[in-house]
Amino acid sequence: MPLPPMKRVLLKLSGEVLMGDGQYGIDPAFVMSLAQEVKAAKDTGLEICLVIGGGNIFRGMAGAAAGMDRAQADYMGMLATVMNALAMQNALEQIGVQTRVQSAIEMDKVCEPVIRRRAERHLEKGRVVIFAAGVGAPYFTTDSGAALRAAEMKCDALLKGTSVDGVYDADPKKKSGAKRFETVSYDKVLADNLKVMDAAAVALCRDNGIPIVVFSIREKGNLARVLAGEGVQTIVQNG
Ligand code: UDP
Repeated sequence: MPLPPMKRVLLKLSGEVLMGDGQYGIDPAFVMSLAQEVKAAKDTGLEICLVIGGGNIFRGMAGAAAGMDRAQADYMGMLATVMNALAMQNALEQIGVQTRVQSAIEMDKVCEPVIRRRAERHLEKGRVVIFAAGVGAPYFTTDSGAALRAAEMKCDALLKGTSVDGVYDADPKKKSGAKRFETVSYDKVLADNLKVMDAAAVALCRDNGIPIVVFSIREKGNLARVLAGEGVQTIVQNG
Protein backbone atom coordinates (compact mmCIF):
# COMPACT_ATOMS: atom_id res chain seq x y z
CA MET A 1 0.00 0.00 0.00
CA PRO A 2 1.69 3.27 -1.07
CA LEU A 3 1.74 6.32 1.16
CA PRO A 4 -1.15 8.77 0.87
CA PRO A 5 -0.34 12.21 -0.60
CA MET A 6 1.40 14.21 2.12
CA LYS A 7 0.96 17.85 3.01
CA ARG A 8 2.37 17.84 6.53
CA VAL A 9 4.89 15.41 8.01
CA LEU A 10 6.66 14.88 11.26
CA LEU A 11 10.33 14.04 10.79
CA LYS A 12 11.93 12.28 13.75
CA LEU A 13 15.72 12.14 13.75
CA SER A 14 17.59 9.94 16.21
CA GLY A 15 20.07 11.92 18.26
CA GLU A 16 22.87 9.62 17.14
CA VAL A 17 22.69 10.84 13.54
CA LEU A 18 23.82 14.30 14.75
CA MET A 19 27.16 12.75 15.76
CA GLY A 20 28.08 12.24 12.10
CA ASP A 21 31.02 9.86 12.16
CA GLY A 22 31.87 10.76 15.75
CA GLN A 23 31.13 8.75 18.88
CA TYR A 24 29.41 11.43 20.92
CA GLY A 25 27.81 14.86 20.76
CA ILE A 26 27.11 17.13 17.83
CA ASP A 27 29.03 17.39 14.55
CA PRO A 28 28.01 20.84 13.22
CA ALA A 29 28.98 19.93 9.64
CA PHE A 30 26.77 16.86 9.71
CA VAL A 31 23.92 18.79 11.32
CA MET A 32 24.23 21.23 8.42
CA SER A 33 23.95 18.40 5.90
CA LEU A 34 20.80 17.20 7.70
CA ALA A 35 19.44 20.74 7.58
CA GLN A 36 20.00 20.76 3.80
CA GLU A 37 17.89 17.61 3.53
CA VAL A 38 15.13 19.23 5.57
CA LYS A 39 15.30 22.36 3.41
CA ALA A 40 15.04 20.31 0.22
CA ALA A 41 11.96 18.56 1.60
CA LYS A 42 10.43 21.85 2.65
CA ASP A 43 11.09 23.35 -0.77
CA THR A 44 8.75 20.74 -2.27
CA GLY A 45 5.93 22.52 -0.40
CA LEU A 46 5.68 20.23 2.61
CA GLU A 47 4.93 21.51 6.10
CA ILE A 48 7.52 20.03 8.44
CA CYS A 49 7.49 19.32 12.17
CA LEU A 50 10.78 18.04 13.56
CA VAL A 51 11.57 15.98 16.64
CA ILE A 52 15.17 15.16 17.48
CA GLY A 53 16.28 12.56 20.01
CA GLY A 54 19.03 12.98 22.56
CA GLY A 55 20.90 9.69 22.41
CA ASN A 56 24.06 11.36 21.06
CA ILE A 57 24.38 13.15 24.40
CA PHE A 58 22.50 11.33 27.14
CA ARG A 59 19.98 8.51 27.50
CA GLY A 60 18.07 8.05 30.73
CA MET A 61 18.30 4.26 30.55
CA ALA A 62 22.10 4.45 30.37
CA GLY A 63 22.16 6.72 33.42
CA ALA A 64 19.83 4.36 35.29
CA ALA A 65 21.99 1.37 34.35
CA ALA A 66 24.95 3.21 35.88
CA GLY A 67 23.06 3.63 39.14
CA MET A 68 21.26 6.96 38.69
CA ASP A 69 17.65 7.54 39.58
CA ARG A 70 15.75 6.84 36.35
CA ALA A 71 13.52 9.92 36.42
CA GLN A 72 16.45 12.20 37.16
CA ALA A 73 18.43 10.66 34.30
CA ASP A 74 15.44 10.99 31.96
CA TYR A 75 15.19 14.72 32.68
CA MET A 76 18.85 15.00 31.69
CA GLY A 77 17.99 13.16 28.47
CA MET A 78 15.18 15.62 27.77
CA LEU A 79 17.58 18.53 28.22
CA ALA A 80 19.89 16.86 25.70
CA THR A 81 17.08 16.95 23.13
CA VAL A 82 16.76 20.71 23.65
CA MET A 83 20.47 21.15 22.86
CA ASN A 84 20.01 19.14 19.68
CA ALA A 85 16.94 21.17 18.73
CA LEU A 86 18.93 24.40 19.12
CA ALA A 87 21.77 22.98 17.00
CA MET A 88 19.32 22.08 14.24
CA GLN A 89 17.58 25.45 14.51
CA ASN A 90 20.94 27.16 14.07
CA ALA A 91 21.79 25.10 10.97
CA LEU A 92 18.37 25.59 9.36
CA GLU A 93 18.39 29.33 9.91
CA GLN A 94 21.92 29.62 8.49
CA ILE A 95 20.53 28.31 5.20
CA GLY A 96 17.49 30.57 5.30
CA VAL A 97 14.81 28.26 6.74
CA GLN A 98 12.71 29.99 9.37
CA THR A 99 12.16 27.84 12.45
CA ARG A 100 10.72 27.85 15.92
CA VAL A 101 11.70 25.53 18.76
CA GLN A 102 8.92 24.54 21.16
CA SER A 103 9.95 22.66 24.27
CA ALA A 104 7.74 20.45 26.44
CA ILE A 105 9.85 21.66 29.38
CA GLU A 106 9.41 25.42 29.53
CA MET A 107 12.62 27.31 28.96
CA ASP A 108 11.57 30.78 27.97
CA LYS A 109 15.06 32.20 27.56
CA VAL A 110 15.86 29.83 24.71
CA CYS A 111 12.63 28.71 23.08
CA GLU A 112 8.84 28.72 23.16
CA PRO A 113 6.71 26.34 25.20
CA VAL A 114 4.66 23.79 23.26
CA ILE A 115 1.45 25.55 22.21
CA ARG A 116 -0.40 23.64 19.52
CA ARG A 117 -2.26 26.59 18.02
CA ARG A 118 0.90 28.61 17.86
CA ALA A 119 2.70 25.73 16.18
CA GLU A 120 -0.12 25.60 13.61
CA ARG A 121 0.42 29.26 12.85
CA HIS A 122 4.17 28.77 12.44
CA LEU A 123 3.57 25.97 9.95
CA GLU A 124 1.07 28.10 8.02
CA LYS A 125 3.73 30.80 7.78
CA GLY A 126 6.18 28.31 6.32
CA ARG A 127 8.31 27.82 9.43
CA VAL A 128 9.70 24.47 10.50
CA VAL A 129 8.61 23.72 14.07
CA ILE A 130 11.12 21.74 16.14
CA PHE A 131 9.51 20.06 19.13
CA ALA A 132 12.00 19.47 21.95
CA ALA A 133 12.00 17.61 25.29
CA GLY A 134 9.82 14.74 24.07
CA VAL A 135 6.52 14.54 25.93
CA GLY A 136 8.08 16.41 28.86
CA ALA A 137 7.85 13.44 31.23
CA PRO A 138 10.31 10.75 32.31
CA TYR A 139 9.83 7.08 31.34
CA PHE A 140 9.04 8.15 27.77
CA THR A 141 11.21 8.56 24.69
CA THR A 142 11.40 11.05 21.88
CA ASP A 143 9.70 8.43 19.68
CA SER A 144 6.64 8.81 21.90
CA GLY A 145 7.10 12.58 21.68
CA ALA A 146 7.20 12.29 17.89
CA ALA A 147 4.04 10.15 17.79
CA LEU A 148 2.24 12.56 20.12
CA ARG A 149 3.17 15.65 18.10
CA ALA A 150 2.37 13.87 14.83
CA ALA A 151 -1.11 13.12 16.19
CA GLU A 152 -1.86 16.55 17.63
CA MET A 153 -0.46 18.39 14.59
CA LYS A 154 -2.44 16.04 12.31
CA CYS A 155 0.60 14.98 10.32
CA ASP A 156 0.07 12.69 7.34
CA ALA A 157 3.04 10.52 8.30
CA LEU A 158 5.78 10.09 10.86
CA LEU A 159 9.10 9.79 9.04
CA LYS A 160 11.72 8.17 11.23
CA GLY A 161 15.18 9.01 9.94
CA THR A 162 17.72 6.80 11.61
CA SER A 163 20.94 4.84 10.97
CA VAL A 164 19.26 1.77 9.41
CA ASP A 165 17.28 1.70 6.19
CA GLY A 166 14.08 0.13 7.51
CA VAL A 167 12.58 -2.50 9.76
CA TYR A 168 14.15 -5.97 9.72
CA ASP A 169 12.95 -9.33 11.01
CA ALA A 170 16.19 -9.53 13.05
CA ASP A 171 18.99 -7.12 13.90
CA PRO A 172 20.88 -6.71 10.58
CA LYS A 173 24.08 -5.86 12.48
CA LYS A 174 23.93 -9.22 14.26
CA LYS A 175 22.28 -11.55 11.70
CA SER A 176 23.60 -11.48 8.13
CA GLY A 177 20.44 -12.89 6.47
CA ALA A 178 18.07 -10.45 8.19
CA LYS A 179 15.21 -9.46 5.87
CA ARG A 180 13.91 -5.91 5.49
CA PHE A 181 10.14 -5.44 5.28
CA GLU A 182 8.71 -3.19 2.54
CA THR A 183 5.58 -2.77 4.63
CA VAL A 184 4.61 -4.26 7.96
CA SER A 185 1.54 -3.83 10.16
CA TYR A 186 1.56 -2.02 13.50
CA ASP A 187 0.27 -5.21 15.12
CA LYS A 188 3.14 -7.33 13.79
CA VAL A 189 5.65 -4.74 14.98
CA LEU A 190 4.10 -4.90 18.45
CA ALA A 191 3.54 -8.67 18.58
CA ASP A 192 7.06 -9.55 17.34
CA ASN A 193 8.68 -6.68 19.26
CA LEU A 194 10.38 -5.45 16.05
CA LYS A 195 12.84 -2.64 16.57
CA VAL A 196 11.06 0.40 15.12
CA MET A 197 10.05 2.65 17.97
CA ASP A 198 8.95 1.90 21.49
CA ALA A 199 5.57 0.21 21.87
CA ALA A 200 3.79 3.30 23.23
CA ALA A 201 4.80 5.29 20.14
CA VAL A 202 3.76 2.54 17.72
CA ALA A 203 0.40 2.12 19.48
CA LEU A 204 -0.28 5.86 19.36
CA CYS A 205 0.42 5.90 15.61
CA ARG A 206 -1.76 2.81 15.08
CA ASP A 207 -4.68 4.25 17.05
CA ASN A 208 -4.51 7.48 15.06
CA GLY A 209 -3.82 5.90 11.65
CA ILE A 210 -0.45 7.63 11.20
CA PRO A 211 1.88 5.66 8.88
CA ILE A 212 5.47 5.34 10.15
CA VAL A 213 8.16 5.46 7.47
CA VAL A 214 11.53 4.15 8.65
CA PHE A 215 14.54 5.06 6.51
CA SER A 216 18.24 5.91 6.72
CA ILE A 217 18.92 9.62 7.00
CA ARG A 218 22.66 9.02 6.75
CA GLU A 219 22.60 8.70 2.96
CA LYS A 220 22.52 12.01 1.18
CA GLY A 221 19.28 12.76 -0.67
CA ASN A 222 17.42 9.90 0.96
CA LEU A 223 14.72 11.99 2.58
CA ALA A 224 13.75 13.44 -0.82
CA ARG A 225 13.76 9.95 -2.38
CA VAL A 226 11.57 8.59 0.41
CA LEU A 227 9.13 11.47 0.01
CA ALA A 228 9.02 10.81 -3.74
CA GLY A 229 8.22 7.15 -3.02
CA GLU A 230 11.54 6.06 -4.53
CA GLY A 231 13.64 5.41 -1.46
CA VAL A 232 14.62 2.32 0.49
CA GLN A 233 12.33 2.29 3.49
CA THR A 234 9.82 0.32 5.51
CA ILE A 235 6.28 1.59 5.91
CA VAL A 236 4.47 0.58 9.09
CA GLN A 237 0.72 0.85 8.59
CA ASN A 238 -2.47 -1.17 8.90
CA GLY A 239 -2.06 -4.47 7.08
N1 UDP B 1 13.27 11.43 27.42
C1 UDP B 1 12.27 11.35 28.38
N2 UDP B 1 10.98 11.68 28.03
C2 UDP B 1 10.64 12.04 26.77
C3 UDP B 1 11.66 12.10 25.79
C4 UDP B 1 12.96 11.79 26.13
O1 UDP B 1 12.54 11.03 29.51
O2 UDP B 1 9.45 12.33 26.51
C5 UDP B 1 14.68 11.18 27.79
C6 UDP B 1 15.03 9.71 27.93
O3 UDP B 1 15.95 9.59 28.99
C7 UDP B 1 15.73 9.40 26.63
C8 UDP B 1 16.46 10.69 26.35
O4 UDP B 1 15.55 11.70 26.79
O5 UDP B 1 16.64 8.33 26.75
C9 UDP B 1 16.85 10.93 24.91
O6 UDP B 1 15.81 10.61 24.04
P1 UDP B 1 15.80 9.29 23.11
O7 UDP B 1 16.48 8.15 23.81
O8 UDP B 1 14.39 9.07 22.67
O9 UDP B 1 16.69 9.79 21.89
P2 UDP B 1 17.12 9.04 20.54
O10 UDP B 1 17.25 7.57 20.83
O11 UDP B 1 16.05 9.28 19.52
O12 UDP B 1 18.39 9.70 20.15
